[in-house]
Amino acid sequence: MAIRIGIPRALAYYSFFPQWKTFFEELGAEVVLSPPTNKHIVNEGIRDTVTDACIPIKVYHGHVASLADKADYLFVPRIAGLDADATLCPKFLGLPEMIRASVKGIPPLLSPRLDVRDGRFAPVKAWIKTASLLGAGYRQALSAYRKSVKAGQYYEGLLASRILPEEAMPLVDKWTASLRSEEKARRSDARRSTASARASSAQTLEPHNSGIRLAVVGYPYMIYDDFINCGLLNALKRLGAAIVTPEMIPARERQAQAKKQPKYLFWYYSNQVMRAVYYFFQENMVDGVIHLTAFACGPDAMVDKLLELDCHKHGRIPYLSLCLDEHTGRAGIITRLEAFTDMLVRKRGGKR
Ligand code: SF4
Repeated sequence: MAIRIGIPRALAYYSFFPQWKTFFEELGAEVVLSPPTNKHIVNEGIRDTVTDACIPIKVYHGHVASLADKADYLFVPRIAGLDADATLCPKFLGLPEMIRASVKGIPPLLSPRLDVRDGRFAPVKAWIKTASLLGAGYRQALSAYRKSVKAGQYYEGLLASRILPEEAMPLVDKWTASLRSEEKARRSDARRSTASARASSAQTLEPHNSGIRLAVVGYPYMIYDDFINCGLLNALKRLGAAIVTPEMIPARERQAQAKKQPKYLFWYYSNQVMRAVYYFFQENMVDGVIHLTAFACGPDAMVDKLLELDCHKHGRIPYLSLCLDEHTGRAGIITRLEAFTDMLVRKRGGKR
């Protein structure tokens, strides 16, 4: 029977799941994903987490608890550096220790330290070491790593084509399945798959009746977890807004905006948010900015104010900050979204 690797559907899942899944499946393991966030998962997370944690960390604990009896190992990486400029917040750095100390009765953790600042080959070494814990040899591990990187790149391309993560992931599955088959079929299938992804992106994000274009910014695990954000993306679509998010900007375009930052922030995801917003301003892409911030998030205390000031500086672009935690109610969010979009429609001289 294949080894079962449990992956919590939270935090960096939204950035890296296709890559991680490909890696473990190439090693012959079965990947078990926790269900979408729900009330039970949130309650389990609140029970297990230290009290001053932010909602994404509480939710992560709940997802871990939901996998306790369903996997042989849990994949809880220590993601410490994703580029040369920054690290991640302390909760990401201490995630394996937090989980071991707080959630009882869970299987052993696989917790490679992933930090590109440790050297060019550090990530690949960390992945090969992880593979060796599962009994894989060097060649198999290296091959799995290379395929996983390609899957990750393909996924990023889909997100940049304005596909939302949960819609993009099955497309990556399809693509990796095609990679496993014969070479000729692989090439044509990848082309078809990309083309259909682009077509579907047009459907997903074309402006609706209001003509309003909104940037929804924040950490991917806030933007794409429908339970945490009370279904915000769908609510905005129902209100007729076209939406862009940081992941819909190709990584190289975001990186090109780094020079506009007076000072780099310490945190990777925070830099991505700032750079995406600079890109939206540069391309005149949005009528307003909505920032999803987590109550008790240290980095966001700074990012939220910087975004507000930047919106003011760039032509007083309307800015709405929504601070979320486990007590956030759907009605309160919808009311504020309605007020914000109504104000934008009037600003454009239109009527609801
Ligand atoms: S960056 Fe903020 S929201 Fe994200 S895990 Fe750290 S404290 Fe929580």
